[in-house]
Amino acid sequence: MDNWTLTGPKTLANRQQGELALTPEQVKVKVTHVLLSNFDALCYSGELPVAYPKTIGRYAVGIVTECGEKAFGIEKGARVFIKGTRPCGKCLHCKRGNPENCEHVQIAGIDFDGFLRDFVTCDYRRVAALPAEVDDINALCIEHVAMAENIYDQLNLPAGGKVAIIGGNATAFILAQVAMYHKLVPVVICDNAQAVEKFKHAGVYYAMLTDDDLYTNVAEATSGLNCDAAVYISCSRMNPDIASRVIGRDKTLVLEGMASLKFKLDSIPLFRHNTRVITVTDGYGYTESAINMILHGAIDLNAFGKQILTEFDPAPILEGMLSDLSHGTKMTIAKLIF
Ligand SMILES: [Zn+2]
Repeated sequence: MDNWTLTGPKTLANRQQGELALTPEQVKVKVTHVLLSNFDALCYSGELPVAYPKTIGRYAVGIVTECGEKAFGIEKGARVFIKGTRPCGKCLHCKRGNPENCEHVQIAGIDFDGFLRDFVTCDYRRVAALPAEVDDINALCIEHVAMAENIYDQLNLPAGGKVAIIGGNATAFILAQVAMYHKLVPVVICDNAQAVEKFKHAGVYYAMLTDDDLYTNVAEATSGLNCDAAVYISCSRMNPDIASRVIGRDKTLVLEGMASLKFKLDSIPLFRHNTRVITVTDGYGYTESAINMILHGAIDLNAFGKQILTEFDPAPILEGMLSDLSHGTKMTIAKLIF
């Protein structure tokens, strides 16, 4: 039996899960696969604010084993992605029946129990049925792709727009691919030579190191005009001021914080360049669009190493991830057998 629960920083235990009652609008899901990610590692370390106790695990797929009588459009036996975000149900938008505008989107593993457990019950609208072509492993990346779609939407750039991505991990990788799918030109900036090679190998032409030639290389990639937008991956632990130095005036800087970390950002260049700063922390509202992108082969996840574990102790795995948040592109998947 699995129900891996955090009760404090670095205090993780497998606890017996209580009986799960099903309301008419809920479904019961047998969790089959959970992606252990940077987000979970930062919950584990205490760097992300968890409302203890909370079960860990934000990205999961499973099989529906029971449906409430008012769970529409989803059937017993369906393979589903369990959404890692939920509307709060308490704000005025939620109460008026517009949960898509929720002001306090809740996140699995921080605000409500995550999915590294045998069974999950949730509102039927918080699961998405998976087409046969989207396998369980690809489905675990749905929220990353959804977040990238969210960012793309907010940037609102025409084809050919150059987007600097500051970071070299799996999140940066997915962002670069989503940008290319939408005919934008990613300019990936990262502090690790191996990661730069990986990006180039995956077809990202402008992938460069943060060395002395950085600004010359960016100028070359943009014909001297600088980038049209920049996305700073906060768990890259790179210097965020690089982002403001590679965009032009009146452009957008996105602070990506799915696995958010505290950092200091120099405000002066932002003011001088009239920069619009926005933050994006999830893929809330973009799940279906992300499934569609994966279905159309827009994202190649083959570049990621994969490790599928049927027996696991999450604590040392998450501890290990903490040492390579910035460049990790290996997917570690817990496969839950029941
Ligand atoms: Zn709400």
